Amino acid sequence: MAIYNTASDSANTAVRAFLTKVGEHYLGHSFNTGSGKGKAIWLEIRDGHFASCCAYCGEKHDKLQIEHVFMFNRTEYGLHHPGNTVPCCKSCNKRERNPDKSYCDWVSHLKLVCEKRGETEVFQSRKQAILDNFKRYDYPNLNENEKHAVRVIAGSLYENIKTESEKSLNLYKQLDEAFVK
Ligand SMILES: [Zn+2]
Repeated sequence: MAIYNTASDSANTAVRAFLTKVGEHYLGHSFNTGSGKGKAIWLEIRDGHFASCCAYCGEKHDKLQIEHVFMFNRTEYGLHHPGNTVPCCKSCNKRERNPDKSYCDWVSHLKLVCEKRGETEVFQSRKQAILDNFKRYDYPNLNENEKHAVRVIAGSLYENIKTESEKSLNLYKQLDEAFVK
């Protein structure tokens, strides 16, 4: 739980809820990684296909986090779907940034993690393991129109929620003015 909650936080949460619903729409059932079928699939990915190792640095960890390969936000609009989730250690879960400060896509991130560790020879095999995961779980290959639709809806949802949150203070001030004084 965030200590300091902003209008952007609520807008980002709404975008993630939308990307979760779209992912589940393609999957055909819910993907709650905390219980039931969703949890079983997640454990199969984490401990089976990735052998309890971080998908980026390859180290074995007992506290692996869920990483969305295509980022779970309105810029990369990665879906919450088994094909887009891989285990990741805490430090690799912090995306590297490009020179212009934007976040790297997953391939560049993986390349930088391997370079920093002096393990460029394993880059191809780790990349392949992530590509195999997309394929194994049939991650939807959205066409350009579908991608555009997801991007437009996520952007609009973000702006609407942010605007509504910000309007709330003005509304409160108006009501306070009208009734309290
Ligand atoms: Zn790692």
